[in-house]
Amino acid sequence: MNRTIVIGAGFGGLALAIRLQAAGVPTRLLEQRDKPGGRAYVYEDQGFKFDAGPTVITDPSAIEELFTLAGKRMADYVDLMPVTPFYRLCWESGRVFDYDNDQASLERQIQQFNPQDVVGYRRFLDYSRAVFKEGYLKLGAVPFLSFRDMLRAGPQLARLQAWRSVYDVVSRFIKDDYLRQAFSFHSLLVGGNPFATSSIYTLIHALEREWGVWFARGGTGALVQGLVRLFEDLGGEIALNAKVSHMETTGARISSVHLADGRHFDTPAVASNADVVHTYGTLLGHLPAGAARAGALKRKRMSNSLFVLYFGLNKQHTQLAHHTVCFGPRYRELIEDIFNRDTLSEDFSLYLHAPCVTDPSLAPPGCGSYYVLAPVPHLGTADLDWTVEGPRLRDRIFAYLEQHYMPGLREQLVTHRMFTPFDFRDELGAHLGSAFSIEPLLTQSAWFRPHNRDDRIPNLYLVGAGTHPGAGVPGVIGSAKATAGLMLEDLAP
Ligand SMILES: Cc1cc2nc3c(=O)[nH]c(=O)nc-3n(C[C@H](O)[C@H](O)[C@H](O)COP(=O)(O)OP(=O)(O)OC[C@H]3O[C@@H](n4cnc5c(N)ncnc54)[C@H](O)[C@@H]3O)c2cc1C
Repeated sequence: MNRTIVIGAGFGGLALAIRLQAAGVPTRLLEQRDKPGGRAYVYEDQGFKFDAGPTVITDPSAIEELFTLAGKRMADYVDLMPVTPFYRLCWESGRVFDYDNDQASLERQIQQFNPQDVVGYRRFLDYSRAVFKEGYLKLGAVPFLSFRDMLRAGPQLARLQAWRSVYDVVSRFIKDDYLRQAFSFHSLLVGGNPFATSSIYTLIHALEREWGVWFARGGTGALVQGLVRLFEDLGGEIALNAKVSHMETTGARISSVHLADGRHFDTPAVASNADVVHTYGTLLGHLPAGAARAGALKRKRMSNSLFVLYFGLNKQHTQLAHHTVCFGPRYRELIEDIFNRDTLSEDFSLYLHAPCVTDPSLAPPGCGSYYVLAPVPHLGTADLDWTVEGPRLRDRIFAYLEQHYMPGLREQLVTHRMFTPFDFRDELGAHLGSAFSIEPLLTQSAWFRPHNRDDRIPNLYLVGAGTHPGAGVPGVIGSAKATAGLMLEDLAP
């Protein structure tokens, strides 16, 4: 029997392949790179291990569900460890906020910033929990295939004032400027501009408060490996170094998937976890339906890109928390530059990952693995030559970290590598080098996002950041649930 095909082994592709295989649908996962994980790839160098992308694991129950539906125990595959504080937020003025899950500690810290904001924070938390219930628990894994689905969600969205931006809503509850940043930056974690993205994304705060922040022992790569092992234990087949070049159709349906090396597979159905513009423009670009869809998608706004710097030091900086957000001197203006300006700003805000705080095995004894990322414009916003800008930005960021956070960094450097918008484009096939696919604006969410099942090609499905509900590990795992529901219904004998 021909296997159903999933193109791409990111978290979305893996979660979908597991769901299909666990339901008895023989499934083949095709991944172009030499390792699975997609944005959660792993680099290894001189005994240092670097998770390339996701490091903040939230909603562990969504991951656990993949194991339980397959009749397995997650603990036999992967060990998730709690991280405290969730993040340490730091400003150049020296202010620090340890963002954690302890109401008393949060309120004590808020009190120090602005006593009146304690009550405001409680009201914000209530709001965030209401959005979480509607937007995540009820709608996060439900496909929006028709405008009727959107209309049905309308009253709740209106009640929660989803047309307002994240920052706008946070500012209604919280007055202090630092705290407004502390409770609004989260949408950036999924490629959303807090000044433009729907306030629905404030749900991330409630989601973190509900289930905590976790890290897999051995790194996020160990979680990817656990999911691959689960898929294979269920009888699934995964092929690495398997770049799909195009798909062929018979009538309106896809009949086969073709690889760049000449191999091809007949198939009853295909789900693509690849970038949505790549899926329609390249893999289906020879068909009128594919070319038209790609054209329409290119008119949508893509989320920002990232500049990521992985580095290994011969020292562990024990003063750091596992996750640090290093706010730069500007907030609103910097974000405006990242999303809308055609050059690179002089200043930056950074996310610094120090995983050895939780798991020292990721570096040789006494050493530390780190990564630091800066949100930057995608290639459609700023058409920069990253072969030139990359090394310049690297040097500026190393100097900045050394001055503010990691004394002696450059002397302690053993190894480093960069990942620029060019790499998002060339390694991952990401349109305009976007790090999070289509920007999560209200007008590009739910029914307005590319659908989990294509409207014109009945056996083509999407999974991952470009479809509903969107980017982030919980998002793409939710998309796999929505897509699997449709596929299992359609593929039922
Ligand atoms: C640096 C960084 C940090 C992040 N941090 C976090 C975090 O802490 N927490 C969080 O929740 N989220 C985080 N995110 C977001 C999250 O990682 C992504 O939204 C999510 O992993 C995307 O998963 P996906 O299923 O859409 O697939 P992707 O990871 O995009 O994988 C798609 C796969 O498809 C493959 N592919 C593409 N084209 C083809 C082809 N033609 N043939 C075969 N294979 C193909 C690619 O090689 C890739 O492996 C981060 C993202 C980045 C970039």
